[in-house]
Amino acid sequence: MATSDAAHAPAPFLSPAPILIGCPDCATIQLMPEIKRGYLTCCTCRGALERKTGRSLDAALACSLATLALLFPANLCLLLKVSKAGLIAKSYLFSGVAVLWSHGWVFTATVVALQAVAFPLLRFGLLSAVLLSIRFGRVGSWTGPAFRWCCRLDLWAMPDVFLLGFIIGYSRLAPFVPVEIGAGGWCLIGAALLTMLTRATHDRRETWRRIGRPATATPGTGIEADAIGCSGCDLVLPPTASGTRCPRCGLRVWRRRPGSLNTAFALVLAGFALYPLANAYPLSVITLAGGQTGHTLYSSVMRLVEANLLPLACVIFITSIGIPLAKLAGMCWLFLSVRNQSRRHLVAKARTFRLIEEISRWSNADIFTLVVYMPLVQFGQLANVNLGQGAPALQALVVVTMLASGLFDQRLVWDPARRSA
Ligand SMILES: [Zn+2]
Ligand SMILES: [Zn+2]
Repeated sequence: MATSDAAHAPAPFLSPAPILIGCPDCATIQLMPEIKRGYLTCCTCRGALERKTGRSLDAALACSLATLALLFPANLCLLLKVSKAGLIAKSYLFSGVAVLWSHGWVFTATVVALQAVAFPLLRFGLLSAVLLSIRFGRVGSWTGPAFRWCCRLDLWAMPDVFLLGFIIGYSRLAPFVPVEIGAGGWCLIGAALLTMLTRATHDRRETWRRIGRPATATPGTGIEADAIGCSGCDLVLPPTASGTRCPRCGLRVWRRRPGSLNTAFALVLAGFALYPLANAYPLSVITLAGGQTGHTLYSSVMRLVEANLLPLACVIFITSIGIPLAKLAGMCWLFLSVRNQSRRHLVAKARTFRLIEEISRWSNADIFTLVVYMPLVQFGQLANVNLGQGAPALQALVVVTMLASGLFDQRLVWDPARRSA
């Protein structure tokens, strides 16, 4: 079993011997060999434990540093410029947040500032520091907790989702007025693509191994029987470690996270209350020559269909209307499974949970479109775009559903099968 010292052992002590790992999805304690290519899946839930093909810590470090470097100009420089009939309007990322704030949308402005500006900088700053410490043999006690936070911020830092909002905003304007993409816009495109490339090249399991090598064991030694897997870094710990801090990542270790079912259920209930509000109230209010028109999610989709922008209409329908509902329904399926102690379709449930975790962040695309779009149309009573009450409801819906899946301990779904086995 890994001790505190062993947990922070530097890279040269790595051994090719199989290591013990606790599956983050189903809690199965299993031996995982080190592989050079291909991928390994969990013997119980079939979730991917490790993917090697196309992954390298050096490539991930290069992508992470490049993303971090591009995020600064993407935040500070011009995103879009519109000029027509002598009027010039410019859009910056911070100006979008500032316009939301000045119009009194404090919650929306704060969440956008966190998801589009603060979290990406923090995530890529932490990831670069962790990978640099591994590269230069400077792994210390701070590295594990820093990497855990970096992993946690992965879904909450959204340059890639912002890029989708940017593309939608540009596509809505381009047919009607000449739009110029500024330096910040190109840097945003680069940063968002590099964000996806960083995810594709980064081998998390290898990073954890370099931070602290887990214990090795042979089957039958007894350690597998009631050992606990850390839900932060999948390190296998003895049963006595329950309630203490993981020596590798610093997260408090629980056999099952206390109160996770009730917390997640309350958040999903809040999601069900917010969903009709997000759909019934207008997402944006457009003022044109003194007259005001509100646009709900559904009417926005229909307007895009009428303007022959069918792909955009499909994207907004799926991300803003379809995904939140699918996520709420999927979480209810998991809750019912735990409540009824069901042992059926467990692999499908594990896949549903992984999908739910991954896709819900994309529902923010429509909000980010408005952040890009609003600073370009601020001409007082002549022409003006403002948020409607549906926008904070949609944003709160995304936040509560992401919190629900993040706080739900999915290992509970597998407990009935484990008990019967
Ligand atoms: Zn598993
Ligand atoms: Zn841990």
